[in-house]
Amino acid sequence: MPHEPLWQGTEQELKEYLAAVDHNCTCQFDDKGARKVPCSLHLAPPTQEQLNKFLFMRRIAERLRRGEHCDAV
Ligand SMILES: [Zn+2]
Repeated sequence: MPHEPLWQGTEQELKEYLAAVDHNCTCQFDDKGARKVPCSLHLAPPTQEQLNKFLFMRRIAERLRRGEHCDAV
């Protein structure tokens, strides 16, 4: 039985993750708002690796935005 993935980021990062999923969702809904055809994001729950990758990429992007990549020079 597969393990439930654990969120290892902050609450704010979770909100941003859920917003990103919503933003990129291409599910098709019927007239009553029920999901008719799930998109790839909603077809299966995310794996631990996918969640970890999201956090890693988000944190790297944040560091680059703050110019921390210049510190290593
Ligand atoms: Zn979706």
